[in-house]
Amino acid sequence: HTLFLARTAAAYGALTANRTRVSRFLRQGERVVGAVITDLESGDETEVRAKQVINATGVWTDDTQAMAGTRGQFHVRASKGVHLLVPRDRINSRTGLILRTEKSVLFVIPWGRHWIIGTTDTDWTLDKAHPALSSKDVTYLLEHVNSVLATPLVPEDVEGVYAGLRPLLSGEAAETSKLSREHLVAHPVPGLVVVAGGKYTTYRVMAKDAVDEAVRGLDEKIPDCVTHRVPLLGADGYPALWNARHRLAERSGLHVARIEHLLNRYGSLAPQLLALVAEDPSLGEALPSSDDYL
Ligand SMILES: Cc1cc2nc3c(=O)[nH]c(=O)nc-3n(C[C@H](O)[C@H](O)[C@H](O)COP(=O)(O)OP(=O)(O)OC[C@H]3O[C@@H](n4cnc5c(N)ncnc54)[C@H](O)[C@@H]3O)c2cc1C
Repeated sequence: HTLFLARTAAAYGALTANRTRVSRFLRQGERVVGAVITDLESGDETEVRAKQVINATGVWTDDTQAMAGTRGQFHVRASKGVHLLVPRDRINSRTGLILRTEKSVLFVIPWGRHWIIGTTDTDWTLDKAHPALSSKDVTYLLEHVNSVLATPLVPEDVEGVYAGLRPLLSGEAAETSKLSREHLVAHPVPGLVVVAGGKYTTYRVMAKDAVDEAVRGLDEKIPDCVTHRVPLLGADGYPALWNARHRLAERSGLHVARIEHLLNRYGSLAPQLLALVAEDPSLGEALPSSDDYL
């Protein structure tokens, strides 16, 4: 999904550069006038100049704000969340579940051939690039889900795990589950806007608020934001292609379940992949040991 956001922006003329790291900001007096970025694949450094820079670096916000010498405006804490994957046949249910816990809620969501069970909410102060689960996380999740299952799950049922970090605005609450899920936008020095906190669900509101703030720093008349009316690449034309999925399966020689998977993932851009498969049929074969994927 994040890749499709970048591709959608690029389709509207944005220049995008992934696998690059900002190593410092460019300054003209107090004003931020751009950033030095390092290509993490080649190691090359490039100067990018901009009238306004927006810092949207999630749990790394304190580190990146420190580069601008503005640490202290607000802080972002990392809260670790863990999800477990267990095979579908381990839970005899036709629907997902939402359970109340003492801290928050626990979801049990059907996902392909697995159930996703999550999540936890604990402070993380170690390497932000590598959040890792502990046996305590597994015990917590299994204990809660087992409280409603006729046949309890055991650690051996767990086939996969995910661990991620939520960027939470730092407040008075010691527990991360009580910290605000709202976002904040600030303009700590001329030329630099920072947006932090928030949720995935509200990413367009966060983007609008951050860009509106950056626009206030420009001496130009800029039209109002229209993000709420801009579909992602792949959204336009999706329902018609979904209706045509059996025909796509026939034409491509792929099973209709594969077509559905590709449509769910790439929307109306899926035919681009089917064109590649037509050129090189080996691309239409399942990945060894990972049957669900081409
Ligand atoms: C387990 C879990 C469950 C969640 N559940 C939900 C949910 O149900 N609903 C919901 O809405 N939200 C949920 N969230 C929260 C949501 O995922 C996050 O709020 C959101 O992903 C944060 O996005 P972000 O872009 O602010 O930060 P990130 O996705 O962390 O992006 C920050 C980016 O900045 C980059 N970066 C850092 N430093 C630099 C630098 N120096 N130079 C260049 N780039 C840099 C990083 O590489 C990263 O790509 C959940 C999060 C977790 C972990």
